[in-house]
Amino acid sequence: MALAHSLGFPRIGRDRELKKAQEAFWKGELDETGLRAVGRELRARHWQVQKDAGIDLLPVGDFAWYDGVLAHSLTFGVIPERFRPASGKPTLETLFAMARGVSGDTCCGGAHAQEMTKWFDTNYHYLVPEFTPDQQFALSWEQLFEEVAEAHALGHTVKPVVIGPLTYLWLGKLKGDAQGFDKLDLLERLLPLYGQIFQRLVEQGVEWVQIDEPILVLDLPQDWKNAFERAYNSLQREPLKKLIATYFGGLEENLGLAANLPVDGLHIDLVRAPEQYPTILDRLPAYKVLSLGMVNGRNVWRCDLEKALAVIGHAHSRLGERLWVAPSCSLLHSPVDLEREEGLDAELKGWLAFATQKCAEVALLARAVNQPDAPEVRKALAESRAVQASRAASPRIHKPQVQARLAAVKASDSQRRSPFAQRIARQRIGLALPPFPTTTIGSFPQTSAIRLARQAFKQGKLSPGDYTDAMHSEIRHAVEIQERLGLDVLVHGEAERNDMVEYFAEQLDGYLFTRFGWVQSYGSRCVKPAIIYGDLSRPKAMTVEWIRYAQSLTGKVMKGMLTGPVTMLMWSFPREDVSREVQARQLALALRDEVVDLEAAGIKVIQIDEAAFREGLPLRQAEWQHYLDWATESFRLCASGVRDETQIHTHMCYSEFNDVIESIAAMDADVITIETSRSDMELLQAFEAFEYPNEIGPGVYDIHSPRVPDTAEMVKLMRKAVQRIPAERLWVNPDCGLKTRGWPETEAALVNMVAAARQLRKEL
Ligand code: GLN
Ligand code: ZN
Repeated sequence: MALAHSLGFPRIGRDRELKKAQEAFWKGELDETGLRAVGRELRARHWQVQKDAGIDLLPVGDFAWYDGVLAHSLTFGVIPERFRPASGKPTLETLFAMARGVSGDTCCGGAHAQEMTKWFDTNYHYLVPEFTPDQQFALSWEQLFEEVAEAHALGHTVKPVVIGPLTYLWLGKLKGDAQGFDKLDLLERLLPLYGQIFQRLVEQGVEWVQIDEPILVLDLPQDWKNAFERAYNSLQREPLKKLIATYFGGLEENLGLAANLPVDGLHIDLVRAPEQYPTILDRLPAYKVLSLGMVNGRNVWRCDLEKALAVIGHAHSRLGERLWVAPSCSLLHSPVDLEREEGLDAELKGWLAFATQKCAEVALLARAVNQPDAPEVRKALAESRAVQASRAASPRIHKPQVQARLAAVKASDSQRRSPFAQRIARQRIGLALPPFPTTTIGSFPQTSAIRLARQAFKQGKLSPGDYTDAMHSEIRHAVEIQERLGLDVLVHGEAERNDMVEYFAEQLDGYLFTRFGWVQSYGSRCVKPAIIYGDLSRPKAMTVEWIRYAQSLTGKVMKGMLTGPVTMLMWSFPREDVSREVQARQLALALRDEVVDLEAAGIKVIQIDEAAFREGLPLRQAEWQHYLDWATESFRLCASGVRDETQIHTHMCYSEFNDVIESIAAMDADVITIETSRSDMELLQAFEAFEYPNEIGPGVYDIHSPRVPDTAEMVKLMRKAVQRIPAERLWVNPDCGLKTRGWPETEAALVNMVAAARQLRKEL
């Protein structure tokens, strides 16, 4: 019998109950008992949902307050000094303090939160463990064992899930004076903790544990590879069966290593890396379980069951009982339950599967090899075939016009008419800006009045005319303030935008939206990505009227504001039937029309945001160049429909530019604004070393905090910039958009910023 299991289920709840409960707890509206009750309720429900779907072995340990990596840090006692409780024993309060920081005015003084960063190439963010060279580990948190007991009490057969020792260490950072110390040296100290955990699980009657080691799909340094064998040899003693789980890519050169670790099973991701099969069969020792990740845990599409069954059937004939069937990775990255989407178009809904439905798909695949003649199996396969056929032929997806336009794209379409040097000369004449021109990144404070107006409009309580009036008055307000402050290139403030991707997606053909398709981004924050389901096109202009209105209010230059094709793609659920590259290029053409229309409306500066450009880099270095090529080309295709006189800006948030600077330069934006203030302008090093030729606006203040930096501080930062980049190519701007800020601090900071630019001009 092939076994169906799940690597993890979303923890947020179908109505984002976890988010709501955590936020209520933080506000003091819910006590700890109440919060814990919500957690228990969610776990019980999620186990039942998975069991009802036909999953044989249920995950425990996938639930977490705030973040799962954080839970491991508590488990191991990896609690930075500044959060260490006097009693020695961490509490929920300790956990949330590590996640969110503690403000300075409380009893115990302030403590900044742990750093947060992207979980591999997903849009989930985890809290980075902080190690010190003298780091000690001690079992300090009972949550996993409590939850195992809880599941057992409910009569479930479970498989606890832990992050493996090497992945855990890899994800962490050394702090303090760690010169010359290698965090891998902490391994010997950490391993006994795993021994203790496994021992406890054995005592609880657990048979299998899942150990996540997704770093096995990365380019690993040799000493890390070597450490794998050492670590798992030493963990061999515990009489607990171990399944090593890998996901988000192929094992490639680590395949032999992973297959031969002294454990009882291996999970591989055949959605991301189908080529691992059947190679793996020849490499896997004959006693081991092989878990095949067949159902995509990272996207929203129904699985092509017949295609998956071709692999599963073959694997079953070779492995028999040793075959397990699973989603590709934890379902943490999928929305919870498609059944919630009552309002969704029936045909589109028929193409989708969320976490709950994905569990049923996994179970069905196992069933299909165990009982191929069961009527449910036949029915499900027939249905899957029909869905695949309807999608493959649907005119809602396949648009000959869009495809023809893409096919007709010429190399010159992604090329500005003249080289930068000529363009900038023309732009300087047309724009007549002072040296060190000042601008902002696009958004101004999204006040509650703005949000309320938008909500009322969406609910039909505010007429389109009244809504337009409300937004116009916001734009007027933003323009007045910017004129008063003396900024050089103005923005309209983005009041009408809920989100920089969704706003455009809603106006493009080929996107669909769910009402409850939330996935956790970090902590209590969830996002509801739009879904690309078909060929993408722009039925009509999206931003032109707003920007035209804004420009009509001022004699200064008004900057048009768009989200770029790569970012649109990275922050959406993409199609699986065409490549990401094709989708990016379709988006590029749709946005290109908007760029051209803005120019025709008299807009002289157009910013195309590419916040997700750097974060789209594949996990494996060998795949970088291909990605960078199409990402760069998509941006250029989007930006190159305009005259030389029109100035194209792009913007990127906190990024490491060293390894991608060549591609940043190849994007050929006339101006790039970047987030640099927290790096003390260090990030400009990459631009300097590469002799980046175009203009740069290095952010002079951090927009994540309400703190108002003074003029001297910004002048000092810009002086550092001048040492790296010629003054005539520098702009002065904040790090990013100001939508999360309030007006008072925004105005105060911008007054100082304009003063800083004026001072710098005097120094020229
Ligand atoms: N134009 C956007 C804004 O100002 C850019 C946001 C971003 O880069 N994340 O809000
Ligand atoms: Zn930004």
